[in-house]
Amino acid sequence: MHIIVHNAKCHGHARCWSQAPEIFKLDEDGYILPGNIDVAAGNEFCASRGARSCPERALEINRSSDTAPVMA
Ligand code: SF4
Repeated sequence: MHIIVHNAKCHGHARCWSQAPEIFKLDEDGYILPGNIDVAAGNEFCASRGARSCPERALEINRSSDTAPVMA
């Protein structure tokens, strides 16, 4: 599973980070860092909860393991 990060949609609410700071890394202005996020086994629940918490839909959950990550 990985999270596709759509940086252009991020408005810096930091809700993802508040749900799972070990998964969602922000820059000094509170915006999600670029690049898709590979979610380690066992972290899927926290990652899904954090992604769903984003009010801008900037975090897209991709559960297929055979799809190459897409750079945002
Ligand atoms: S919750 Fe969404 S808008 Fe807020 S920092 Fe995370 S990705 Fe960006």
